[in-house]
Amino acid sequence: MKIDDTIYLDYQASTPVDPLVLDEMMPYFLSQYGNPHSSEHIFGWQAAEAVDKAKTKIAYLIGADSDEIVFTSGATESNNLALFGLADKRQSKRNRILVSSIEHKSVLAVTDKLRMKYGIECLKVPVNNEGIVDLNFISDNLDDSVLAISIISVNNEIGTIQPLAEIGLLAKNYGALFHCDAAQAPCAVDIDVFDMNVDLLSMSAHKIYGPKGIGALYVRREHIHKVEPQIVGGGQQNNLRSGTLPVPLCVGFGKATELISGNYAALERKRIAALRDRFVDNLIKLNWQICSNGPKSCIRHPGNANLRFEGFSSYDILSALQPKVAASSGSACTSGTTEPSYVLQAIGLTDDEASSSIRFSFGRFTTDEKVDEALEKLKCVLYRLMEV
Ligand code: PMP
Repeated sequence: MKIDDTIYLDYQASTPVDPLVLDEMMPYFLSQYGNPHSSEHIFGWQAAEAVDKAKTKIAYLIGADSDEIVFTSGATESNNLALFGLADKRQSKRNRILVSSIEHKSVLAVTDKLRMKYGIECLKVPVNNEGIVDLNFISDNLDDSVLAISIISVNNEIGTIQPLAEIGLLAKNYGALFHCDAAQAPCAVDIDVFDMNVDLLSMSAHKIYGPKGIGALYVRREHIHKVEPQIVGGGQQNNLRSGTLPVPLCVGFGKATELISGNYAALERKRIAALRDRFVDNLIKLNWQICSNGPKSCIRHPGNANLRFEGFSSYDILSALQPKVAASSGSACTSGTTEPSYVLQAIGLTDDEASSSIRFSFGRFTTDEKVDEALEKLKCVLYRLMEV
């Protein structure tokens, strides 16, 4: 199947690597291939310097210091390190964790394990029909038995942007740690871990035009000793995560964060939101009953649309769109299962409604022309499916 002509509208599953990112990575595959932990020669020094520079850029993006950044293999590992790490070292009286009902599976699966391993109770914070967490529920359930609150900053299916500063303040007032899964955040909002009282924060390079296989966990300096490493060995990264760092990936991640920092980010978000709105507005105008799931645009990832096609199955639409348009019925990590999305259920959709919903996500390399072409292809598919 030829994919050169396929219109890619699945940026929240993964973004293409920006060519500027790839350029920056190449020398670290070809000539500067030293081990950054080799401290006795120039190859090692150069590699270590490149890793440090990348850490500084990543830290800058979220208002942290570079010594608070731990490289991981991605946001899944970061979420695991944050929650298992805190639980393994916790004081015994703190045996509850609050998470939203629309967390990524890499948080929810950890909380299941923590219940089985330590009897840690996990309380699911409900969300409203826009996907915003119930702040009253959080404050009603916060006391000195809560170890951590873990909230996804920007949802991967419906794009909801959470009020992190408010949640951070609540956590701080009760001495609970605030962990935030920010894998989708940099394309959507500015994050400042200091202002928002975030104690731990997970990131992933492949959601921001960097390479797959690299992510980071920010841990506020004063809490580093509270996190038990989950990968042990040579003691790299101050013992928090052993293993030789993949220098080209670290460098690529650093460059990707640099490209998404500062004024350029705001302009890019605006441009992408306009593309998303062009797509959604044109679709909703048509004869079919098509509704938008999730939040209003001011609290939504600019590249996210989640649309419900009443009377159609998302599976049928997505299959019929192949190989012309790539989108998805839910998060890539849970697609392949036939169960309706728990995120859509949590915001009040019925099973049928969830099963007729599709996420289209737009990004840096989407153009007006691609949007219009995708609309045409989608229209043809809907007409065709109606005839069946
Ligand atoms: N959290 C969120 C919100 C995500 O969207 C994803 C990717 N689907 C992850 C965690 C997992 O990230 P990674 O692929 O880097 O492990």
